[in-house]
Parts: sequence; C-alpha cells; structure tokens
Amino acid sequence: MKQMTCAQMGGPADCTVMLSGNTAEELVKDGMGHVTQAHPEMAANIKKMTPEQTTKWMEDFKPKFDALPEM
Ligand SMILES: [Zn+2]
Repeated sequence: MKQMTCAQMGGPADCTVMLSGNTAEELVKDGMGHVTQAHPEMAANIKKMTPEQTTKWMEDFKPKFDALPEM
C-alpha cells in the first residue's frame, strides 16, 4: 500500500488529506473520490480532460507512484 497527499497528487497545496492504494490506478481512484467530495471545481476540470490528457497525466503520475515508499 502506498500513500500520497492530495496536494502531491495535484490538489490544492494546503490539502494534506492522505490518499492510498496498492496500485497507481487505485490511488487515482481514491483521489478522485476525495476530489469529487472536497474540491468539486477540480473534479469538474478533471472530467473535462480528453483521453489523451488523461493518458499523459497517468504517464507523469506512475513514476511518482513508483517512487513512493511502501507503507
Ligand atoms: Zn484535497
């Protein structure tokens, strides 16, 4: 299991809510659940992303996930 704060995932810099997952996909899913509840404007922007933008975002995100320490 790996953990990342909302801010580390690209959320507001002062949001320290911890998100967790066993894979990058799980962590993103947990993050989306939190963003939908806590930052609805951000969730709306994410939902407007094109499939290409989403793929690019995941490509950037995966190395960050891999670099996290295992909890
Ligand atoms: Zn947040």
